[in-house]
Amino acid sequence: MKIKDLFKSKTVFSFEVFPPKTTSSVDVIYNALDQLGDLNPDFISVTYSAGGSGNSGLALDIASKVKSMGVTPVLHLPCINYTREQINDTLEAAKSRGIDHILALRGDINPDIPPVEDFKYASDLINYLRSKGDFDIAAACYPEGHPDADSLEQDIENLKIKVESGADHLITQLFFDNSYFWNFREKAAAKGINVPIEAGIMPVVNKKQIERMVTTCGASLPQKFVKIMQKYEHNPEALRDAGIAYAIDQIIDLAAGDVDGIHLYTMNNPYVAKKISDAVSGVISV
Ligand code: FAD
Repeated sequence: MKIKDLFKSKTVFSFEVFPPKTTSSVDVIYNALDQLGDLNPDFISVTYSAGGSGNSGLALDIASKVKSMGVTPVLHLPCINYTREQINDTLEAAKSRGIDHILALRGDINPDIPPVEDFKYASDLINYLRSKGDFDIAAACYPEGHPDADSLEQDIENLKIKVESGADHLITQLFFDNSYFWNFREKAAAKGINVPIEAGIMPVVNKKQIERMVTTCGASLPQKFVKIMQKYEHNPEALRDAGIAYAIDQIIDLAAGDVDGIHLYTMNNPYVAKKISDAVSGVISV
């Protein structure tokens, strides 16, 4: 069954993993995947480099490994730095491995890499994917607005184009304050965007992640979140437990508001994913 159809019968629960920077740590990710597979997610998505890091082949291998475990793989595919031929090659490679779920993305613009512009926006890739066969197509969305957009309203107008191009379902950027999600969902629905929207949840469980959140993540950090992070930043175990509890709290609130799905940014950490899955399995299956 395609993921787009699964939303009709349940709250979808999915994971995201990323390929390691070097092939030498492949065993670690494969081991993590085995443990994530035991948690029975509805799909596992695999990130893909927008260009530069050279881990793209690994993403396909990891997606194949997910498939071999009996879990649906969703391959991320950013287009901005790839030619049509390169995209074709990746799609052919995916098809030949039985991977027919794609998260179609533009990718971040890297100031050091001039964009190829065979595909300028994710919607261009989605249009192209529609002409290339029977893919289940997911796309990204941004509860606080995409950083390049002038406003949330403008971003939602552009999201509508993406959905009309053929996106079957959406996955949000991470957020720590659910009120942004509810506001976004309402505004999207008012614009006639009626495909399922999964909420992207990132458990923040170590100091490195906190630093990244503060410097590079565009998401608003609510006072409650900042207080917890400040209190426990020097106590790794307490920080891990607090980060897990914060994510669980967010998910329970989202489930109570009938969210279409939860997409957990696992950071390749099966311990954290298991703690969260165990805690929310009841609330997201009812
Ligand atoms: P688009 O939908 O193309 O939007 C980009 C900007 O252009 C927005 O400001 C939008 O408002 C505007 N826009 C869109 N369409 C139009 C239009 N027709 N006319 C005018 N303006 C328009 N990056 C990776 O490199 N690899 C990954 O694996 C990856 N995975 C991700 C997974 C998720 C769930 C999310 C939320 C993001 C992910 N990203 C990934 C990051 C993503 O590539 C960046 O956020 C990127 O900057 C935007 O991608 P997009 O597909 O949302 O772009």
